Amino acid sequence: MERETIEFDVVFAGGGPANLSSAIHLTNLIRKHNEDIENGKQHGKKIDIEDNIAVLEKGAYFGAHNISGAVLIPDVLSELLPDHKELGCPIDAEVSTESVYFLTRKGNMKVPFTPSFLNNRGNYILSLSKFVGWLSKIAEKNNVMLLEGTAAVEIFYEGDRVIGVRTDDKRLKENGEYETPGYILNSKVVVLGEGSNGTLCKSVIEKLHLDKGRAPSIYELGVKEIYELKSNPLRKGECIHTLGYPFRKGLSGGGFIYGISETRVVIGLIAHLSSGDPQFDPHKELQKYKQHPFIFRIIKDGTPTHYGARTLPCGGYFSIPKLTSDGVMITGDAANLVDSQKLKGIHTAIKSGMLAAEVLFEAFKTGDFSATQLEKYEEKLKNSWIYSDLRKSRNFTPAVARGIPFPGGLLLGFQILTGGAAPTGDLQTKPDYSTTEDMKHFYGKRLPEPLPKEDDKITVSKLTDVYLSGTKHDEKQQSHIRLKNDDVCKKCVSDYKAPCTVFCPASVYELGDNKIKVNFSNCMHCKTCDVKCPFQNIVWNLPEGGGGPRYSLQ
Ligand SMILES: Cc1cc2nc3c(=O)[nH]c(=O)nc-3n(C[C@H](O)[C@H](O)[C@H](O)COP(=O)(O)OP(=O)(O)OC[C@H]3O[C@@H](n4cnc5c(N)ncnc54)[C@H](O)[C@@H]3O)c2cc1C
Ligand code: SF4
Ligand code: SF4
Repeated sequence: MERETIEFDVVFAGGGPANLSSAIHLTNLIRKHNEDIENGKQHGKKIDIEDNIAVLEKGAYFGAHNISGAVLIPDVLSELLPDHKELGCPIDAEVSTESVYFLTRKGNMKVPFTPSFLNNRGNYILSLSKFVGWLSKIAEKNNVMLLEGTAAVEIFYEGDRVIGVRTDDKRLKENGEYETPGYILNSKVVVLGEGSNGTLCKSVIEKLHLDKGRAPSIYELGVKEIYELKSNPLRKGECIHTLGYPFRKGLSGGGFIYGISETRVVIGLIAHLSSGDPQFDPHKELQKYKQHPFIFRIIKDGTPTHYGARTLPCGGYFSIPKLTSDGVMITGDAANLVDSQKLKGIHTAIKSGMLAAEVLFEAFKTGDFSATQLEKYEEKLKNSWIYSDLRKSRNFTPAVARGIPFPGGLLLGFQILTGGAAPTGDLQTKPDYSTTEDMKHFYGKRLPEPLPKEDDKITVSKLTDVYLSGTKHDEKQQSHIRLKNDDVCKKCVSDYKAPCTVFCPASVYELGDNKIKVNFSNCMHCKTCDVKCPFQNIVWNLPEGGGGPRYSLQ
């Protein structure tokens, strides 16, 4: 296929908070540099950024694929954009009240103090989708080329040096050709900020062995609904975190409820994908959570209006890969920088993007885009608060995964007292696909709990929720999801009861006649199946840009 080639200095693959912040910081630094030269404050050459810096985003628009809680620690945003409020940053509320509850099956207990890592007073509550849309407008004003609805689908190398990417081909014709072939974007540097379990990032890490000697990347799945209420018992800015129900032996995680306006609340669960349960279904757990009297009293007169799901990396400190190589840098969630103890990754994503930008700025000034220059990003990150914070929470995820209150609660207490240590040395983790047990081992003679009865008000079906996420894909393309081997699925159906048919939060996988059918159009790009199929039998490729969820308030 004939493809047009375009030359860039920097291509940012992925338009989330990490890469947009990076592009904004880089262009702000360049603008200041050019102004200083113009005003005679500095000697040197001006840097031309026109058509040289691009951000590619696979969502139909910037923000379409971004979902979070979200409570943002604002300090780093003030560092990036000190006048963010004047610039219209879409803040829903500042956290005014916060509390932590432990839920039993029907009851609740207020935890008498809020642990310091969950202290959110003064932090911003916002919609990540709206926030990303706003950041993109600032990048656009800074002359960054924004390519929305465009996926970077392939990395190009010269030896081990990354030299560019290819964008997606669009609209498959009956003759097997595409109406619009993708472009080849050559670039001095490709910055991978694809978010959790990024597809290109994973391929680069594998090819260049960037994870050698690191702990495996492990993940949680966050599922979230927004409710419109007649009257909201929560104050705007009220922030509640819960432990306990519906989590139990074999399933760990936590819940969150945020008051985002006079009539809206956010309800969500974050569940560890290390669960051994072959019938692990976070969407079902969210429905059970909402039936708990503590949550039900909040949403009982409400209607669900928005839904979404996304994995987030929780391996933290031990699982951060090498973040640079010749021609490439990795930022944000793609670099496993989420602080899972604080349940936050937007601030680390922004900061990592800014540090990458500072190194790129130096490269623009000196003309040195070599691997040695890019490596300075890694050094800067290691010397920043990101590393010291992640070090403090290095044993948090495996401690919680061992079960709250026992023994996880004791391990957490020990960590708080010692700045992150575990009593018998650092806790080990395993890849999520390998932790799933078969039906016989996990359930014995028991049966999985049935789905709560759906009424599409309090208990919402997966398909209704998919509708509320706005997800769709152009059907004129090959499925972006491929099963490697049908025989493996047959064995899995008999021993594991096809976990993909339940863990997928969008009902993409369906079992019929002992065969798995893939409804790829429903896919919300959460990336769970890529890491949780016990046989690693699923290949998740990037679909055409523009498909997937259409988040607006998530
Ligand atoms: C339910 C949930 C609750 C959370 N709560 C909080 C919270 O309260 N506070 C907090 O700070 N953090 C929270 N987080 C984590 C936070 O959302 C992430 O850490 C943050 O979004 C990471 O930013 P990022 O830019 O690295 O990735 P993302 O926000 O995931 O952005 C990556 C972007 O890259 C795009 N992309 C991916 N691959 C390609 C490609 N090949 N080509 C083109 N585009 C591509 C994606 O579509 C996406 O828009 C939460 C996460 C979840 C899921
Ligand atoms: S795709 Fe994976 S999880 Fe689904 S049935 Fe096949 S082997 Fe099992
Ligand atoms: S198919 Fe995979 S990536 Fe898509 S929604 Fe389901 S689990 Fe998530």
